[in-house]
Order: sequence, then structure tokens, then C-alpha cells
Amino acid sequence: MTGRVLIVDDIIANVRLLEARLLSEYFEVVTASSGPEALQELEGDAFDIVLLDVMMPEMDGFEVCRRIKGDPKTAHIPVVMVTALDQPDDRVKGLEAGADDFLTKPVNDISLTTRVKNLIRLKRLHDEFRMRASTGRVMGFEDGIDLASLLAQKKSRILVIDERRSSYERSVATLSRESHVDVETEAQNAQVRLVEGDYDLAIISMDIKGFDPLRLCAQIRSFDKTRILPILLICEDQDNDRLMKALELGVNDYVVRPVDRNELLARTRTQIRRKRFNDTLRDSVQETMELAIKDSLTGLYNRRYLESHLTLLTQEASQRRSALSLMVLDVDHFKHVNDTYGHHVGDEVLKDLARRLKRNTRGLDLLCRYGGEEFVIAMPETAANLAYGAADRIREKVAIEPFVVSGGVHSLDITISIGVSSYTIGQNDTSDDLFRRADKALYEAKMGGRNKVVLDSSAQDAAI
Ligand code: GH3
Ligand code: MG
Ligand code: MG
Repeated sequence: MTGRVLIVDDIIANVRLLEARLLSEYFEVVTASSGPEALQELEGDAFDIVLLDVMMPEMDGFEVCRRIKGDPKTAHIPVVMVTALDQPDDRVKGLEAGADDFLTKPVNDISLTTRVKNLIRLKRLHDEFRMRASTGRVMGFEDGIDLASLLAQKKSRILVIDERRSSYERSVATLSRESHVDVETEAQNAQVRLVEGDYDLAIISMDIKGFDPLRLCAQIRSFDKTRILPILLICEDQDNDRLMKALELGVNDYVVRPVDRNELLARTRTQIRRKRFNDTLRDSVQETMELAIKDSLTGLYNRRYLESHLTLLTQEASQRRSALSLMVLDVDHFKHVNDTYGHHVGDEVLKDLARRLKRNTRGLDLLCRYGGEEFVIAMPETAANLAYGAADRIREKVAIEPFVVSGGVHSLDITISIGVSSYTIGQNDTSDDLFRRADKALYEAKMGGRNKVVLDSSAQDAAI
């Protein structure tokens, strides 16, 4: 991961130290030696994070932070306050000024990169989110994603895994104002609880006896349900080797004992926000995608999807010189069904037909409702004769078993006609060519009496 970092400190040696460390991790670094200079930098350029010294003449870090957070153009940029160890009150003031996290001087390498990476990741999600929300508005999904309501959503849920009473009680006291907090004192039970409970964050104490907390972290990462669950460790001391191992296992962040409650609060917020963004982006992408590519009556892919995908399939067939067949399928005398039983029954038939088609195609086949009572199945790696066989099986599955509709009141005999075409290797067929030939074959099937499969004549030649 990389990103643009703005380091603000009036003491040049401090700036150089942080800068060297971040450059070695391939971050892009810009520096400023005063508050006003920092604000000026932020005016001009886009940054992913600001590291901000507290004690500066002229304008202190809190004021700079307040200004960054008070300006809508920069409010979303994460700010880390760099505080002195002997000034714990600075963190309270930092939080009040809108800071996202803290680093304590002298800054430890691992904590620097962990904080910076976490906050840049969060910012990236945030950026993506704002972009999607605006695309969504353009596409007319107005209320698809709303940032404010997302963060104000139901209370977040945290599971604290810690066996020391005084310790977990302190965590609960700190976090329960913003989150619903449960405690698990038996590390062995934690994984099951995390899978079953709908948690947004696991906070794990490294000080668990008789069970390796890192094993728990590995378990959490290996289960589908908890793979992306944020994990925050509470460490006994800055044990760098164990910490590195934990971070490699996918632990997201940590705090060191004695736990500063403001640090715990800040890091918890960052992790929970990130999870919320992730979840919402994923869900909204799925929803938007489904709306755009699926047919709402049958749940099959729609014409738009087929058309773009079929182009890719033909290109692939051409490059790999592999087979590709296409079925175009149409219900016989469907107008009669509508006219006799009503449109609603017609819809039921289409749904049942879609189910039958699904059951009788392979996962590899692309099944779509092309429009009305017309369906298309694209079959990669399927030669003409096999496609013909598959089409005839489908035709039979439809004809042989009546369609029961209106809650069992009517039982209808439905038939379909199918035209089949195949990609001709070496002919540079386009998806349009394939489609046109299948459609022509379908027409012949209709003319030939319906309830029939016709293989396009050029595919017949190739099959011989
Ligand atoms: P053929 O055997 O020649 O295909 O005859 P047909 O009656 O099936 O074909 P035609 O194209 O004349 O009629 C198709 C009918 O399908 C007309 C249209 O109202 C109906 N239809 C299209 N989409 C839907 C739908 O979503 N639901 C229902 N119930 N009917 C639909
Ligand atoms: Mg029809
Ligand atoms: Mg038709």
C-alpha cells in the first residue's frame, strides 16, 4: 500500500525521522514546519493522511486539526496527533479537536506504519464510498448509500476476549458508550461466538493463559464468516516480534498496556468504520449489479448482460480456438396462454420455465432471459452436436411435464422451439453472427411445426 502523507512538525529532526521511515515503506511524503504551512499544503494537494505535532509555535496542532476537520474539503483526511508520552491530556484534547489517532514520541516504527496503513485504508474506503454514492445518484439509485446514516446505524458490536476482570471491565467501561460490548473469558469459546454473533470487532488480550491468542487470530482469519472481522490486540508491552507476527496474521491494530482509553476509543472507531464501509460497499455493489444485470421476473441474467458477456465468450473461443454454441429459445403460442389465462399466469409459466432451464444447464452455461418469452443459453466449450443434444433434452423437459399454475388450478401443456448455432473456428464469427444464425434456426423450428430444435445449417456442415 502507498499513499501521500503530510508530516507537520516545527522540529526538523522529528520531521526527518518520520519521513525516513515512511519513505522506506514507499509512502510519498510532503513536510511542513508550521500549522499555516500545513494548511496551505492541504489547500493545494490531495493527501491521504496528516501526521501532526501538537506543540508548535504560532498555531498548535489542535488548532490545525480543528481547521482540517472543520473544512468540508479536508474533513475526510485522517489526522494522527503526535503527542508526548508525559502529556496524556493531549489525547483527550486531540479527540475533541477531531483527531483520528495518536502516536507517542519517540515514535516506534511498527506503530507508525500500523496507524498510517489503517487510516489510509479507511480513507480509501471512504473515498470509494463517496464516489459510488455520487455514481449511484447519477444512475438514479438516489438513496442507495447515505454516509451519515451508515455511521449512525445500529450500535456496533464488540467482543472482548480477555480473562482478567479488572482489564476487561476497563475496556467495557471505555467502549460501551458507543458500542454494545460482550466479554468472553474463555479463549476457546471465542471463535464460535464470533461466528455466531454479528460482531464488528474482536478485541483480544495477549495476556491469555493456556491458549495462544495468536492462534485465535489465525482461526478468525481462516473462517469465511470472520475473515474480514477487524481484530484489535491489547499487548502487554511493545513485544515487537510477536506483534510483527500478529500483524502478519492479519491483526488490524493494537494498543499497549497500560491502555490509554482514548487510544482504545480512537482505534476501535477506525476499525468499526472500516468494517461498516466494507460491508456497505459490498452489499451495495451486489445490489446495484443485480439491478443492472438481472431480470426481475425470473432472476436470470438480462439481455444487456448477455450481450456484453457473449462478446467476451466469442473472443475467447477465437483466441483459444475452442467450441462455443448458442441456443435461442422461444415459447410456442405464448400469446395464447396470456389470452386464455391472463398475464399473471403467463408470468408464472415464465418463472417455471426459467427454473427448468436452470436445472438443465451447466454452471458454465450462461442462461439469460432475452426478452418477453425468449431465452438465450450460451454454452462455452460445447460443440454443435452436443449443443443440439442439450437443446433437445431441454425441449423435452418442458414438453413432457405440464406447468401447474394458479395454485394448482390449471395444468398447461407448454412447448418451446429452439434454434442452435455454433462458433465456426477460423471464421472470426462475432456474437452477432452467432445470434443471427441461431435466430434463423429458431424461425425454421417454428415453421417446421414448433416443439422442435433446429441446428443452424453451417453448424450442421461442421458437425458432419
Ligand atoms: P410463437 O409460437 O410464434 O412464438 O407465438 P407466440 O404467441 O409465443 O409469440 P408472439 O411473439 O406472438 O407473442 C409473445 C407474447 O408474449 C406476447 C406478449 O404479450 C407475451 N409476453 C412478453 N413478455 C411477457 C411477460 O413478461 N409476461 C407475460 N405474461 N407475457 C409476456
Ligand atoms: Mg413465442
Ligand atoms: Mg416471440
